[in-house]
Amino acid sequence: MKKNIFNQYISDLNLDFKRPSCLSNKIKVCSYFVCCGASVDSILYGNNKKDLRTGNSGIQLYVGNKQLRALIPFSFISKGNPIKIKSSGNKKNAIVEYKGVKLFTISIIPETKVGNNSINLEFETLIAALPQSPNGVRTCFYQEIKKACAFCALKKSKIPLNPSALALAYAKVFKKTGRRPQILLTGGNDFSIDRGLAKFIPYIEKVRTVDRKVKIAIEASPPKDVVELKKLANLKIDTFSANLELYSDNCRNEFLPGKSEIKINEYKKIFNYCKENKIKTFSVLIAGLEDGKDTLIGAKYLSNIGVPTNLLCLRPFPGSILENHRKINPAWFLAITKKVIAAMDKKKLLRKLSRTSGCGSCGACSMEINIYRVMNRYGKRVLNIF
Ligand code: SF4
Repeated sequence: MKKNIFNQYISDLNLDFKRPSCLSNKIKVCSYFVCCGASVDSILYGNNKKDLRTGNSGIQLYVGNKQLRALIPFSFISKGNPIKIKSSGNKKNAIVEYKGVKLFTISIIPETKVGNNSINLEFETLIAALPQSPNGVRTCFYQEIKKACAFCALKKSKIPLNPSALALAYAKVFKKTGRRPQILLTGGNDFSIDRGLAKFIPYIEKVRTVDRKVKIAIEASPPKDVVELKKLANLKIDTFSANLELYSDNCRNEFLPGKSEIKINEYKKIFNYCKENKIKTFSVLIAGLEDGKDTLIGAKYLSNIGVPTNLLCLRPFPGSILENHRKINPAWFLAITKKVIAAMDKKKLLRKLSRTSGCGSCGACSMEINIYRVMNRYGKRVLNIF
């Protein structure tokens, strides 16, 4: 059944089989990887025991050129997927095939060991979903009261992660690669006035003792009182992303039964606070659950208040309420991404997004920053080729 949907999706992408390695095919296949994953030769990925957090960890690719990134979640790798990533004889490069036709070569980023199973390095970012207290239980209040976000795969578990372990992982990756990794910290909400922001503080303080210049992004809900962000602002975080996820009230109530207690106006207040305190910000919207028109209204709302959108497609991960939801059509996702790009471009927000830290500027789970990078390299005319 899934196979038929995937073949339909590939047909909708209208790939050019006469010019298999053209840029348009690379953009379309990148969108396919993000939305639907692929079949991947097992020799190409070793460590699929990474921390799954909310589901988004997997293999990292450059899809035919350096501007196009995709992260294929481990749970999106399946033998039945008609888009195949095949070994080319070495671990760094692979070949993308569809029905035996070779499309183009991609690069696979080799895994860098960080020395802690609760911290992942995805592209240039060290990512950790923190427990409520160091080395304690990682959970989210909304999971506890059975009001979890419908797409969330975060499970209550005890994870061995203290501030020193994060600082050590940072130092190790910096030494190994010769480049400063960024740090992205996330974690579930709690019922306190800061909605759980306090748990980030000891980790940030510890990492700052290793490197004062490290760029740190926090992905969390707005606190009930904006002043609660002051403690993080004092620690000079680079980016605070507060994710609306969905825009229409109906869908927020249905799919974010707990988190919809946070009204859109609370997000606006925190975005304003970030602006006043020179903290970069962006917000995730998830395409494919609510009507595309509502997603677009949400992206325009964000653009009008000067906040970039990081437009993810719904990824129905195992363990989430939506695990059996069909995957999102990558052609549709490209089309809506184009409209969101148009809304952001008017306000110069793509550039702003590219300067944040964490997921917004990486773009391997979305398409807007991928396309922005391609536009910077080849000009805006690329918007007409897909
Ligand atoms: S806020 Fe929602 S997505 Fe985030 S951890 Fe809680 S239930 Fe999961």
